[in-house]
Amino acid sequence: MHTIEKIKNDLINLGIKSGDTLFLRISYRAVGKIEGGPKSFIDALLDVVGTDGTIILTAFPKKYIRQFRFLHRRQILTDKTQLKTLTGVMSEFAITHPEAKISRKLEFPFVAIGKNADYLTSNHTHDKNAYWIIEEAIIKFNCKCLRIGGEPLFGTTHLSLEKCLRDKGENQTNIRYGIYVMENGRTKWYDTPNVLFCKNAFNRNNSRIHPIATISEGTVGNGYAIITDMRKAYNEEVKIFSEDIRNATCDDPNCITCRTSYSFSDTTNFRFMLRQTARIFSSEYKQTIKAIIQTIERIFFGIKVI
Ligand SMILES: [Zn+2]
Repeated sequence: MHTIEKIKNDLINLGIKSGDTLFLRISYRAVGKIEGGPKSFIDALLDVVGTDGTIILTAFPKKYIRQFRFLHRRQILTDKTQLKTLTGVMSEFAITHPEAKISRKLEFPFVAIGKNADYLTSNHTHDKNAYWIIEEAIIKFNCKCLRIGGEPLFGTTHLSLEKCLRDKGENQTNIRYGIYVMENGRTKWYDTPNVLFCKNAFNRNNSRIHPIATISEGTVGNGYAIITDMRKAYNEEVKIFSEDIRNATCDDPNCITCRTSYSFSDTTNFRFMLRQTARIFSSEYKQTIKAIIQTIERIFFGIKVI
């Protein structure tokens, strides 16, 4: 069991400073048990960034396939108090913090606490892009990403990939999800279009981004911790995708995202399905069936993201 003092010292030793704006990707499991639980972690972090600092976390709720929205007419988000996030225990505790602010874009919400929280969340409205709040935090407040444990992501790939797809006139077809939101007594369905990227391709590009974007590495609690410069990570990703947009794809012949979802993907849905059907009796039959179902879903319900 870690004391709050120990966590605070770890965060300071890692290089977090008063006034920092941080996008958090934190696995509570990786940190290990803390006196007072996840709430204490958030309090410790807020203490370290001080009154001039801001923390931002994803707070995404459950979403539904657009074409089946009639089945979910009763699952209406009316305000932030109702929000149940699926993005981890840290987000769950962050949204219950007395000073937590939630995006006005309730269909794709982030939670922020601290000096710039009100500005960021109140301007993250329905008409803005999903990750607008992160982009704005990078541009205006030099936002850094604090990751502890979990997958080695920088929090910038959705932004960089979407920009490069647009610049190159390419697109991606995905299942369109969304949710009903009630505002001022009116209920409206909101889509949540978002670019999906391949983790394998990300991991390969990571070897180029990691040395450029890393500010510091260390340990917080039991977990490996890293602070990255999100502007540098974004710029390097844009460079990688601009050199060749295929750098966003992996080589796995069974990767549904890379093989079929992009306008420049190298396989048709039909060929991909044939390939999956051929390996259905192999030891990987579970992944195969999943890939087939996902392909069918996308053929019927897929919509161009950008
Ligand atoms: Zn892939």
